[in-house]
Amino acid sequence: MNTMCSACGLQGYPARVGVDVIEMFQSPPVPYRITRADEWACPGCGQRWVEGYSTKATQHFEPTFMADVEEACGAVRRTGDEPGAGVRICWERADDRRPPDVGLALLQLWLLKVAARAGERLRKP
Ligand SMILES: [Zn+2]
Repeated sequence: MNTMCSACGLQGYPARVGVDVIEMFQSPPVPYRITRADEWACPGCGQRWVEGYSTKATQHFEPTFMADVEEACGAVRRTGDEPGAGVRICWERADDRRPPDVGLALLQLWLLKVAARAGERLRKP
């Protein structure tokens, strides 16, 4: 695939093949969809971008959604990777944007809240 940095006029290179892109929506932001893609980088300025999205995506209403987000946030996909290292969060609005570690913490908090709500529903007679 040809891709280039429009600022530098240099061809991009694949910086990370296989990232989990978690798209956020609503306010405050919650996960909407998770898709696999690749992260590219510019050898000149270091700018990074995500492209090459898979046609397979899991949406928030699908039964495996929570497990997919949990796996993306917690899984060590490659030797030496920190949990969540392969996650890229796509914010809906510029005002929603947070640093990657804060975004990951928000996702983990969301997972805990959803699990707690599911537990409450199970405990009700
Ligand atoms: Zn560049």
